[in-house]
Amino acid sequence: MSEKQFVKSITSRDEDFAQWYTDIVTKAELVDYSSVRGSMIIRPYGYAIWENIKAELDHQIKATGHENVYMPLLIPESSLQIEKDHIEGFAPEVAWVTHGGDEELAERLCIRPTSEVLFGEHYKNIIHSYRDLPKLYNQWANVVRWEKTTRPFLRTLEFLWQEGHTCHETEADAEAEARKMLEVYASICEDFLAIPVLKGTKTEKEKFAGAKHTYTIESLMPDGKALQSATSHYLGDGFAKAFGIQFSDREGKMQHVHQTSWGFTTRIIGALIMVHGDDRGLVLPPKVAPTQVIIVPVAQHKEGVLDFAYKLKDQLGSQFRVNLDASDKKPGWKFNEYEMKGVPIRLEAGPRDIEAGQVVLVKRDTGEKIQTPIASVEEKIGELLEDIQDNLMKKATAYREDRTKVIQTYAEFKRYYEEENGFAQAMWCGKRECEEKIKEETSVTSRCIPFKQEQVADTCVYCGEKAKHLVNWAKAY
Ligand code: AMP
Repeated sequence: MSEKQFVKSITSRDEDFAQWYTDIVTKAELVDYSSVRGSMIIRPYGYAIWENIKAELDHQIKATGHENVYMPLLIPESSLQIEKDHIEGFAPEVAWVTHGGDEELAERLCIRPTSEVLFGEHYKNIIHSYRDLPKLYNQWANVVRWEKTTRPFLRTLEFLWQEGHTCHETEADAEAEARKMLEVYASICEDFLAIPVLKGTKTEKEKFAGAKHTYTIESLMPDGKALQSATSHYLGDGFAKAFGIQFSDREGKMQHVHQTSWGFTTRIIGALIMVHGDDRGLVLPPKVAPTQVIIVPVAQHKEGVLDFAYKLKDQLGSQFRVNLDASDKKPGWKFNEYEMKGVPIRLEAGPRDIEAGQVVLVKRDTGEKIQTPIASVEEKIGELLEDIQDNLMKKATAYREDRTKVIQTYAEFKRYYEEENGFAQAMWCGKRECEEKIKEETSVTSRCIPFKQEQVADTCVYCGEKAKHLVNWAKAY
């Protein structure tokens, strides 16, 4: 394949967005398809991105007082049946183990789709007094949900995530915890991944099976569709009552605990690809990029070039994540390859640069080339990495603002979604019926009731009755 073909082989984003996405996930070597429909092999480059996200999130989870634990993969059917709303919600997505070797099991075991049940049974055994509270546990694990339609990262049969499960003395403490962890998720998205999010509460229709309140962060993709990027639930005492998680309170009375759960998954890598990528491939924000600077020697067969490049790699390696490609591929090929992989900065160094005491830095986000004296290369790289991180966030925020429309009437609402996609901010009366009708007629769903409420109209966008909440609507992944 020639260098030109390498780039040509990704479909243009405007031409076919879905194909563009598929091309990037395979050509940037993030995933390979597996023989089981809907599950994916996460390749080293994709996994390195996940590891960076995981390290940052794990740090923040621990900094907010949580401990990591590990629960079993399998849940007995009888345990899953204990909380009725929960089983009703998850039943269609559950995978069952029915045999051990050749023998049929006396009781089916489900592969965890989420672990409220396992934590519930454990908490019942270890919580007795208010002194045992709060219990702030988190686990990093894989889960299985039998999804009907799947896309790499965005919706897979098996996915990786962390799930936090906490128990508290009071409703107020548990509510505060659920909101606190949503803020942690929002900060990971905005400050680390440069993905702007809207924060809010899910409607009754869209909330988690078994939760009292579900809080969500929603981001906007370049095709104008929203992506539910993470959720945090206040579970109330429903699971505690079902599983018998009780403690004696400060007055010696028996009480049920108030619980939360919250999850952040490999789905976010899909958002990262879509929000920042372009027709040359992936564009990674520096904070999450496995390689921040790729050194590409030019005319590397000439004396001194490789020695210079290796020295530079050692020098920069103490501050940045740096790689050097000294393979015998042509420089132009390498340029394309690292653009495809979204490496934020390419550093080119050839005999003439070395003689002139400079290198060339190329920014992945804008393609801008900057000649930099060797003496100040570290400083310049630091500056450019910050600049790229900020620029990506600004671009994504400007795009979202451009694609967010305040809407008053249903006629306008329908026209908006016939002509383009994006967030619509419109009032809602609070009735499930209106939400269902809107979905049926336009495929648009309520994404969240934003924490920041405004009264943009007096009546519900669908039925015209008195409005209760401002809602962010969108077609969604
Ligand atoms: P839940 O436990 O249902 O609240 O899910 C937590 C989060 O997981 C959701 O907010 C989604 O962002 C993400 N998620 C749900 N289903 C999938 C899936 N099939 N693949 C990847 N991520 C998912």
